Amino acid sequence: GLKKRYVVRLLRTRLEQRIQDILDRLGQVAQDLGLDVFAVGGFVRDLLLNKQNLDVDIVVEGDGIAFAAEFARRFDCRIRTHRKFGTAVLIFPDQFKVDVASARTEYYLEPGALPTVEHAPIKLDLYRRDFTINTLAIALNGSHFGELYDFFGAQRDLQEKAIRVLHNLSFVEDPTRVFRAIRFEQRLGFRIGVHTEQLLRSAMRMGFLDKIGGHRVWNELVLIFKEANPLPAVLRMADLDLLEYLHPDLLLEKRAKKLFANARQAIDWYRLLFTGEPCRHWLVYFLCLLTDLDDQAVASLCQRLVVAPRLQQIFTVEREAAHRATNLIFWRRMHTAPPRPSEIYDWFQPLATEVLLYAMARSNNEQVQRCLSSYFTHLRSVQCELVGSDIKQLGIAPGPIYKEIFQRLLAARLDGELVTRQDELDFVSQHYLPNKHTNE
Ligand code: ATP
Repeated sequence: GLKKRYVVRLLRTRLEQRIQDILDRLGQVAQDLGLDVFAVGGFVRDLLLNKQNLDVDIVVEGDGIAFAAEFARRFDCRIRTHRKFGTAVLIFPDQFKVDVASARTEYYLEPGALPTVEHAPIKLDLYRRDFTINTLAIALNGSHFGELYDFFGAQRDLQEKAIRVLHNLSFVEDPTRVFRAIRFEQRLGFRIGVHTEQLLRSAMRMGFLDKIGGHRVWNELVLIFKEANPLPAVLRMADLDLLEYLHPDLLLEKRAKKLFANARQAIDWYRLLFTGEPCRHWLVYFLCLLTDLDDQAVASLCQRLVVAPRLQQIFTVEREAAHRATNLIFWRRMHTAPPRPSEIYDWFQPLATEVLLYAMARSNNEQVQRCLSSYFTHLRSVQCELVGSDIKQLGIAPGPIYKEIFQRLLAARLDGELVTRQDELDFVSQHYLPNKHTNE
């Protein structure tokens, strides 16, 4: 009817051509195999919300792996299967991926064994999902192409801008949904439903988050911090007592607002100036969240959340080093001379970009800011002109001494003592060759 025509129009007008083509082909294969195949979840949600989403999720009523294998055979793409879960990933030549899952049908084969529900398999599959807005399905096969299935009131909740769970035990069943609820709420500008919020709070109170592994909590946190602007979600986490759950000393609301705003400025500045250079904005924001924790608290939080060693190093060792360096710059300015460029280089060079951007966001001292920005815009790219063969030509045998020579050359160059290649050659001769300057 009307709705189907509307959905078909969305599919035809809102999606890139290559995705349309893929959906058409999925529908063809489904038709030929006599299977019902659906696009589901976030992809359909975002289609109705008119937001781009390139994660195409497919559910097949029946054997999704066999379906995907046939698709891959017919069209030029690779397939990766997970037998245990009945899932497959189609990988197209341009690396575009489509996830295919199986909705189990075996319980429904016996006629009369259960009251017949139309499309019971897909309905049951969707019932296991986190929120109503993620339970929409669009049929893809043949004459059914574009039929919208809404078993759980998803369209109503999209209209009401509400995040709602499907049943009362949802958060108990999977406590990571606590974080997901906040992430979707803030990303979409929705509101967690009143009843759903009660369920969320009571799952929190009853300690269900402790029952999942720390690494799963960490994964969800990372997803929240990877959102373009994580601050609203962080404030909401505070409101729902999740920050307190993570650690009682985590950043308070008022300071968070200021610090996150500064972090955003630092990140924008960096991206504008160094387009294309990697900058994991979520790390900068996460460091901001940790700012009031002492080293020991950070270390124990990292342990609890099973944070990967490299990141743990950033949150502990490098963070401390950045704090020390910025304090030093501050005090040196107050009492003695400002630091030399080579000193700034030595302090900042071992630290991740994100740690330095965090330091920039945190500092309200002009001198500290100036050191950091001169490091980014100038010092970090300074190099000496001589190379190993130049040193060798001067008659110095290759060995560990080279490392020291290059370090000293770089330091002297950073401090403006060496400007030209000849300066560097003279410097090496003077310091490392005996009797070179004794003839005057
Ligand atoms: P995003 O844009 O963040 O990828 P998404 O809706 O695509 O949003 P995914 O995390 O990719 O979310 O998950 C894909 C689908 O799987 C979701 O639409 C959701 O219905 C379901 N899902 C994911 N995690 C859970 C969970 N913990 N419990 C229930 N369903 C989940």
